[in-house]
Amino acid sequence: MKHPFSGIFTPDYDFVVFPGDVARLIEQLEGPRIDTFKQWTGDTIWAVTFGAGEDWSRKKKLFVSRPHAHEPAGVAACAELIRALAGLGIYAQGWDAWRETVLEEFVITLVPDANPMGSVRAPVTFWDGSHISNERFFLWMFGESGEEVGARFPRVACWDKREVTEPALLGIAYEQIDAHTFVEPNRDYRSTFFKSFFELNDRYHYEVWLDLHQTEFVNSDRNCDVHLRTCLYDLPAVMQDKHQALGEALHACWRRAGGVPRDRPSVPYQNNETQKAFLNAVWRPISEKMVHAVTEIQNNNPKTPNEMQVHLQLAALMETLHWMRVS
Ligand SMILES: [Zn+2]
Repeated sequence: MKHPFSGIFTPDYDFVVFPGDVARLIEQLEGPRIDTFKQWTGDTIWAVTFGAGEDWSRKKKLFVSRPHAHEPAGVAACAELIRALAGLGIYAQGWDAWRETVLEEFVITLVPDANPMGSVRAPVTFWDGSHISNERFFLWMFGESGEEVGARFPRVACWDKREVTEPALLGIAYEQIDAHTFVEPNRDYRSTFFKSFFELNDRYHYEVWLDLHQTEFVNSDRNCDVHLRTCLYDLPAVMQDKHQALGEALHACWRRAGGVPRDRPSVPYQNNETQKAFLNAVWRPISEKMVHAVTEIQNNNPKTPNEMQVHLQLAALMETLHWMRVS
């Protein structure tokens, strides 16, 4: 399945990143099924499902999401895939054969932004590393302490504002789920991120979940990696093989696309039993049943400009479709 996507977007290319832009894109769609999930703050999470018309159950099923509000390249990549599958903009010509094949063979659900209440507060469209230091970026990410100027608010699965000094800056990664409680969407089943997944997975029973993340790659020459699941070696052999095979396919596609991944995808937190146990409790019940791949593309570093960030996420999306077709 050849797709006409090639090369990196031009610097003035108009990416969809902020929640208002995502909403405007979705208003233009006619074909796909649209589901919505409301956050406690009233913000809307959109889930766009292509290929779910008649006879969908025989198709391959893929779920794609972007959980963390400080990681914009995943939103932009999801929006590009939505545009391509809907034949909008630059995808109006030359993509018909690709689109027909994908819609015929796949059910694809995209949740471009699983935390719009966070995204809407981002001070920049992309973190390009040109003028905001990583130290400052980390304060935007998980917040600035209300007790000490310039100190980071901790990264925790959840916190209650009655039990802590309220942060001076509320980290955009967190989602508020009631009057007092904030959760890290990727680590707490009460997040609207997980709620949207579980509800849609009950309907479609996805085989693969591609989760689009970003990280800084401090003191590293690399700018993209697949993080294999911390529970990988506890999974049945057949599931271990599938997770590893998709990870290796993504690393190979990134090398072709100009990215710099590790030689092989790695399993994080192998020497941190606390983190590992915590992540296993959340993710193992999911990774046992489906292939869950996490991309990490460099954030907030001039070595990986905005267009490259989106390009690498989109390359991973396209490669996942290809891998699902041939495996
Ligand atoms: Zn992330």
